[in-house]
Amino acid sequence: MTLTFPETYVDILPEVSAFLEQEHRLYIGGRWAPARSGQTFETLDPSTGKPLARISSAQSEDVDLAVSAARRTFDSGAWHHNLTPSDRSRLIWRLAELIDAHAPVLAQLDSLDNGKPVGKALKSDVPLSAEHFRYYAGWPTKIEGATIPVSTPGMLNYTVREPVGVCGLIVPWNYPLLMAAWKIAPALAAGNCIILKPAEQTPLSALYLARLFEEAGFPPGVFNVLTGFGETAGAALVEHPAVDKIGFTGSVGVAKTIVRSSAASLKRVSLELGGKSPNIVFADADLEQAVVGATWAIFGNNGQSCTAGSRLYIQRGVFDQVLEGVADETAKIRVGMGMSAHQPDLGPVVSQEQLETVMGYIHDGRGSGAETVIGGQRMGGALADGYFIEPTIFVRVQDRMKIAEEEIFGPVVCAMPFDDPAEVLQRANETPFGLAAGLWTRDLSTAHRFAARLQVGTVWINTWGDTDAASPFGGYKQSGHGREMGKDGIDLYSEVKSVWIRLG
Ligand code: NAP
Ligand code: MG
Repeated sequence: MTLTFPETYVDILPEVSAFLEQEHRLYIGGRWAPARSGQTFETLDPSTGKPLARISSAQSEDVDLAVSAARRTFDSGAWHHNLTPSDRSRLIWRLAELIDAHAPVLAQLDSLDNGKPVGKALKSDVPLSAEHFRYYAGWPTKIEGATIPVSTPGMLNYTVREPVGVCGLIVPWNYPLLMAAWKIAPALAAGNCIILKPAEQTPLSALYLARLFEEAGFPPGVFNVLTGFGETAGAALVEHPAVDKIGFTGSVGVAKTIVRSSAASLKRVSLELGGKSPNIVFADADLEQAVVGATWAIFGNNGQSCTAGSRLYIQRGVFDQVLEGVADETAKIRVGMGMSAHQPDLGPVVSQEQLETVMGYIHDGRGSGAETVIGGQRMGGALADGYFIEPTIFVRVQDRMKIAEEEIFGPVVCAMPFDDPAEVLQRANETPFGLAAGLWTRDLSTAHRFAARLQVGTVWINTWGDTDAASPFGGYKQSGHGREMGKDGIDLYSEVKSVWIRLG
């Protein structure tokens, strides 16, 4: 069974304690201000269910102030005109250095707020965030237009790429700092001014990041943070006529609301949404590698990843062997509190609400005839106050069961046998989602055929979960609009202007 242990904790850093105890305000135009209405909310530690800090809850009047501040800075040209591209590069690079310098603090904040093991945040989330800023720090000096060979005699035509303007960036709780970095870095590099709305469950690292923007010396108004709720702060940002673009990562349901309410101003919208990613193990694969890959494809970050490999298709001849391997790997997973000194692999899910959602799916799966080979329970004992769920594997799953169709966003995988490649390809694509897919095979032609025919934004072959600031990421179908990362990220946060000059 999944391992737990008597808990001992990593010491909370003095900087983190001091930060948690201070009054948390909104960051608008380079100043810290409470919400005009005085409204606040609590952010909790999902490992214990206990409150961590009281946070300002931005309402529409605060959104107005933040949009005015960002608009003023953008229109004054303080960021994209008055600074040279090389000045902007240096500032973004400086921010990356400050993230590195404050990595232990940021890791503890994300661990306390989200529940993820502090060691994982320190080894992965925080350095990847710094790396994202470093990658985009290189871009301001490389954003080029083109000279176009138009066929009108005596005419010069060229293009320039310009920032979109004021960008509202709305992010989820699963990788609080990293999801913010994915959006902020390209938006900054392209010359935009930003209003960040972190998730209500995980506002702390966004507020700390604002301090680092101050310390780095960004012009006031380039970066603003509005903590609060989606239905109030988020919705007001989307509806605001002076916001030029919304960059959103989150659920399909909220994305549809955003698309509808952005219609009044026809602002630009880019969307990174969920998935029900198929992970396909062929009988000819390196099965040892596939077993480990399939286990972490779903259980990495507790299944709270948009790319979680939640539909595991295994070729029938090796089904029992691979399933047994994945179950054995899963039994070795160590679950503990985010700040546990025992370096657990997984923490709790993020909230009571998420706990209930995931347990609801497990209940539904059993009710519709699927069976768990491991897991399926909320965890008790020392972990009873937090939102801990055993990593869970379902078998006897039919494609049309809810657990096989809907995104669970928790530590639950459906293992399903398949017979031949054509059949599994069709089943893999039979979903409204299209974020990612994986396959495990030694056959080069299977690899290339599936890479070409899977209707997804990312295909992983004999690997899972790799991303890089330089490589585009995003979804087909209802997994989103647009591609983040790499040059595509710059395109996503810029407009193209075509200039015509009569040469006489
Ligand atoms: P969510 O409810 O969609 O929330 C995401 C963000 O949107 C939060 O900041 C939320 O604020 C805000 N929001 C909620 N309602 C809003 C509204 N009406 N207008 C504007 N903003 C609004 O998603 P979640 O449950 O927090 O996160 C999990 C989901 O995100 C999963 O479905 C997952 O697949 C997806 N996800 C996708 C990616 C990707 O890269 N494709 C990455 C991570 C997660 P509140 O916090 O106040 O609700
Ligand atoms: Mg939410």
